[in-house]
Amino acid sequence: MTDARRIVIVGGGPAGVGAALAARAQDASAEIVLISDEACEPYEKPPLSKAVLIGKAKPHDAPVAGRGGVAAHKVAFQRGTRVRAIDRAARAVVTESGERIPYDALVLASGSINRMLPMFPPGPSLYYLRTAEEALALKAHLDRSRSLLVIGGGLIGLEVAASAAELGVKTTVIEIAPRILARVCDEETSALIHRRHLAHGVDLRIGTAIATLTLLADGRRAVTTKAGDTFAADLIVVGTGVAPDDALAKAAGLAVQDGILVDEHCHTSDPAIFAAGDCTRIPGPNGPVRLENWRHAQEHGAIAGRNAAGGEAAYNTAPSFWSEQYDMYIQGVGWPGAQPSARISRQIGPNAMMLFDLDGARLACAMGINAQRDIAAARRLIERRVPVDIADLTDPAKPLAAMLKAKV
Ligand code: NAP
Repeated sequence: MTDARRIVIVGGGPAGVGAALAARAQDASAEIVLISDEACEPYEKPPLSKAVLIGKAKPHDAPVAGRGGVAAHKVAFQRGTRVRAIDRAARAVVTESGERIPYDALVLASGSINRMLPMFPPGPSLYYLRTAEEALALKAHLDRSRSLLVIGGGLIGLEVAASAAELGVKTTVIEIAPRILARVCDEETSALIHRRHLAHGVDLRIGTAIATLTLLADGRRAVTTKAGDTFAADLIVVGTGVAPDDALAKAAGLAVQDGILVDEHCHTSDPAIFAAGDCTRIPGPNGPVRLENWRHAQEHGAIAGRNAAGGEAAYNTAPSFWSEQYDMYIQGVGWPGAQPSARISRQIGPNAMMLFDLDGARLACAMGINAQRDIAAARRLIERRVPVDIADLTDPAKPLAAMLKAKV
C-alpha cells in the first residue's frame, strides 16, 4: 500500500459517482475505490421510466461517469459487490464475500430502496422500477400489453403512465392521496398535470386505497379499491415511494433518523465517514430533511467526495426535480414553505407556465412547465436570495434573468 489517502465510496448511483469524481478533482494522488452492488458501469436512471419504455433509448446509453466510465477518472471500480458491514474501529468495510477494504475516509452513498406494498410482491406481471433490468422487463411486457394499472401517482407512476399512454396502452393510475404529485408540487400544477393525463386517455383515481388484488382466469390482475371499484389490467406497476438505504450506517452505530444524519459538509456522526444523496437527512431551512432527486444526489455526492479528500465545502444547492410527461417538461426548484407569503403565476403560452411561491420579497420556490430558461434563472434567484419584483414575475415578456442584477 502507498502513502496515498484511501477513500472508499459505497454506492454506484449519481451520489457515489459524483463523490468519486469530486474526490479525484480534490486530490490527484488519493486512492479512490468505488463499490457498487450492480454488476455494470454506473448508468443514468432518469431515462428508465421515459425514453427506455417508449423505445427511444437503451438503459446503458448514458454512463454516469461519461463514455470512458469510472476507470477513466483513475477510480478503482469494484462492481457486483455488496458491503455487509462497516468496522469503524478498524476503519474498514467488509463485503458479503468477507473481503475487508480499509479506508482513511468512507463515503456512504447507498441511495434508497423502493417501498414495497406487501399486497403487491414483485413477480410475473407485477413490477417495481429501479434498475435497467427491471426497465427492460417492464418494457418487453408493456409492448405486448393492452392495459396497465399503476399504483401511485408520484413521479415514477406518472412517467410510466405517460410512456404507456404514448405506446397506446390503456392506463389507469390509483393514488391514495387526494391529488397527484403532492410530494413535489403545488395544487395548481398538480391539477394541470392531472388534466393532461386525462386528455391523453389515462384514467386517474385519486384519494383511493386498494382493498384486494386477485389473479383472473385469463391471466390479468384485478384490483378492487376500498370505494368498491374494480380495475383489471394485463400488468401492474407499483411506484409508492422510497425509503433511505441507511441500514449499514444504522448497524455501525452512526446517527440515523430515517436517513443518515449529516451536516452541511456531509459529515456523519463519525469524523471519518461522510454520506450523501438519498440515504441521508440534511439540514434544511425548516429542520433536517430528506431529498430524493438526481441533481441533489450528484451535487451532494460531490461535496461529500471533496470533503472526504480533504476539502471543506458546504452544501447550499436549492432542491429541484424535473419530469417529462407527454409534451410537458415539468420542473420545480426551491424549498416549499408551509405557507408562502404570496403565490404568483406567469402564463408563458398555451403549453407553458410558471408558478412562484414568495417568502416576503424573495422567491421560496418555483414550478415551471416548458419554462426551462426561466427556471434556470429562478434557481439562481433562490440560491442567491435576490429580491424580486412581483409585477415582473407575472409578465412573461420580462426575463427572470434580468432580476439577477437587483441588489441583494
Ligand atoms: P413518490 O414520488 O414519492 O410517489 C409515490 C406516490 O405513491 C405518492 O403520491 C404516494 O402517496 C403514493 N402512494 C403511496 N402508497 C400508496 C398506495 N398504497 N396506493 C396508492 N398510492 C400510494 O415515489 P415514486 O413515484 O415511487 O418514485 C420513487 C423515487 O424515484 C422517488 O425518490 C422519486 O423522486 C424518484 N423518481 C424521480 C423522478 C424524477 O425526478 N423525474 C422520476 C421517477 C422517480 P403518499 O405521498 O400519500 O404516500
